[in-house]
Amino acid sequence: MYTFTEDQLSIQEVARDIAQNQLKALADEIDKTGRFPEENLNLLVEAQLLQLSIPEEYGGAGMDDEIAKALVVMELAKCCAATAEIVDVHYLSTDILMRKGTDAQKAQYLPEAAKGKLGGFALTEPGAGSDAAGMKTRAVKDGSDYVINGTKCFISNLGPNEGNHFVVIAVTEPGIGTKGTTAFLVDRSMKGVSCGKTEDKMGIRGAAVSELILEDVRVPESAVLGKLGEGFKIAMMGLDGGRIGIASQACGVAFGAIDEAIKYAGQRVQFGKPISANQGIQWYLADMATRAEAAWALTLKAASLRQQGLPCTKEAAMAKYYAGEAACFCCDLALQIHGGYGYMKDYAIERMYRDARIMRIYEGTSEVQKMVIGRMLIN
Ligand SMILES: Cc1cc2nc3c(=O)[nH]c(=O)nc-3n(C[C@H](O)[C@H](O)[C@H](O)COP(=O)(O)OP(=O)(O)OC[C@H]3O[C@@H](n4cnc5c(N)ncnc54)[C@H](O)[C@@H]3O)c2cc1C
Repeated sequence: MYTFTEDQLSIQEVARDIAQNQLKALADEIDKTGRFPEENLNLLVEAQLLQLSIPEEYGGAGMDDEIAKALVVMELAKCCAATAEIVDVHYLSTDILMRKGTDAQKAQYLPEAAKGKLGGFALTEPGAGSDAAGMKTRAVKDGSDYVINGTKCFISNLGPNEGNHFVVIAVTEPGIGTKGTTAFLVDRSMKGVSCGKTEDKMGIRGAAVSELILEDVRVPESAVLGKLGEGFKIAMMGLDGGRIGIASQACGVAFGAIDEAIKYAGQRVQFGKPISANQGIQWYLADMATRAEAAWALTLKAASLRQQGLPCTKEAAMAKYYAGEAACFCCDLALQIHGGYGYMKDYAIERMYRDARIMRIYEGTSEVQKMVIGRMLIN
């Protein structure tokens, strides 16, 4: 059993209150229109949730706590997975900046990030998804600058009007594999940076996801994050945290789906009694709740290891894999419990079912998580 600190519980309560009382009411409209939920972000900045981990000297809440971040994302995802995704990706880019940024990089970007100017993480390319090491985006040294060219696809927190700064992984020395990649901090306002196709998605429709086009983007040497050649290593370090974040999103969606299923099963009468009186339905609920709890425990274990500075790559992959699958399982059965009504857009479960599906794909598919876990088991 987990014992949370007073601070963790109080931040969870703040997130729950906003999610249940404000985000939930907008989730359907945001899904239907696919618009970016600016007002949700304003609420989260006001409540110091978006800038939770950023030190106070940069305008943040000063709570750099992996468990608190997981609890916040879970509460948001219960009610609005799109908003949870936006926050989670912002946490990921902020985490990389805080761990690897220079004092000057932090001084420039953390105050903006604390005010709600969104950060993103750009690794994936059209030809390099699961095999991210196959990236083609190239950064060539030119005097004291680097000139970056390439296209990153499916980049979260990037839209026509969204996204302020991005951690971009690019090849600086071709032919030597992942050791020839470097991480750069790229500002949206830099010449040559543009937003390409914005994706029309199946779920998390309010989250902005677009192509990041980099055409002769000239960045100073001071835009390098960490050291030259450390790009892939930094990406994988960031993804340890990112995967805990996706696992948290998935837990939230799973618990949200269970709430919807219990509510509906208690109200829907067939054969003269609520459908929840049937053992078959109770067994569905039991399977859902057990998997959601297991996902929650794996997620918090990984978050706790990361918080202590301990290795957590395997545990983060396990949490992401299991929670993603559990979210889809729970949403599928919750929809089944709703019968034909669950198939209609009048009920939240129809949206949650679509939102859950991405949890098995981004920040490494379920198959990739199993590759990571398997490799770590035999090495
Ligand atoms: C909504 C959304 C938001 C995203 N946000 C970001 C972001 O902010 N930043 C970013 O960098 N990326 C982002 N991504 C990209 C995401 O991480 C990739 O889509 C994901 O890693 C899979 O890559 P792919 O789509 O190219 O699929 P592919 O790699 O082409 O995989 C296709 C299928 O083949 C399977 N497969 C591939 N290789 C193997 C193997 N060796 N063994 C077994 N199966 C295999 C995969 O599991 C999958 O089922 C986002 C994607 C989406 C859809």
